[in-house]
Amino acid sequence: MFALTGRKALVTGANTGIGQAIGVGLAEAGATVVCAGRRACDETVETIRQAGGSATSLLVDFADPMAGQALFDGQGYDILINNAGIIRRADAIDYTETDWDAVMDVNLKALFFTAQAFGRDLLARGGQGAVVNIASLLSFQGGIRVPAYTASKHGVAGLTKLLANEWAPHGINVNAVAPGYIATNNTEALRNDAERNQAILDRIPAGRWGAPEDIAGAAVYLCSPAARYVHGTLLSVDGGWMAR
Ligand code: NAP
Repeated sequence: MFALTGRKALVTGANTGIGQAIGVGLAEAGATVVCAGRRACDETVETIRQAGGSATSLLVDFADPMAGQALFDGQGYDILINNAGIIRRADAIDYTETDWDAVMDVNLKALFFTAQAFGRDLLARGGQGAVVNIASLLSFQGGIRVPAYTASKHGVAGLTKLLANEWAPHGINVNAVAPGYIATNNTEALRNDAERNQAILDRIPAGRWGAPEDIAGAAVYLCSPAARYVHGTLLSVDGGWMAR
């Protein structure tokens, strides 16, 4: 029920962190994985190949939010993992338009227009498939000092439901994973702040930061036949944070 043999997946931001772990997880489940990043995804591709899987690297910079439009036609994809994302921190009263636009472009506008291009191609072929968007706890909560990130991740939650409504009748499952606090580049500043780090740890029932590998299984599941009746959901993988 969890096999992805014969499926072809595009993972954005697959050179590091959560995207890298998801790419490796999809390949372990049998998918052919195209690892897309603004930097080459050589380490991810090498890890997958050494484990006997199939992967290639693709350079795409989502600072141009329409960059995903050219990726899908005639390429035979049936899985899209919209993972690429950035975060810029500042107090709300100091937040700049430059930071707002950069975050919204990569986290929300690129995510939508990449999904649009994926869906156009797959629907035209009458194929079945899956989109997994990477949301956040800040798809549910407000956060602090990250206004554009919070707005973008709330937007990801809404778009996940909208796309599920439109595409579920055609056999495309659109869902999201909402990671908790995962030790990646994205959260380095928080882990380096002793006070914030302790406050975060104190609230996580599992008592530790998550690892990128903790997210991979949820993404594999949402792409697999096991999730065939799962549409428009946000699956929190957070060590229990949202239950607290
Ligand atoms: P990360 O290690 O910084 O990974 C982010 C990925 O996105 C990197 O591969 C990055 O490339 C890529 N990316 C950024 N801007 C891009 C662009 N313009 N074009 C193409 N790729 C771009 O952090 P992460 O934690 O794994 O983040 C992955 C996703 O999980 C993000 O959507 C993030 O918001 C989400 N998330 C993370 C956490 C957490 O606690 N870590 C929690 C909730 C949600 P570079 O390596 O070149 O920067």
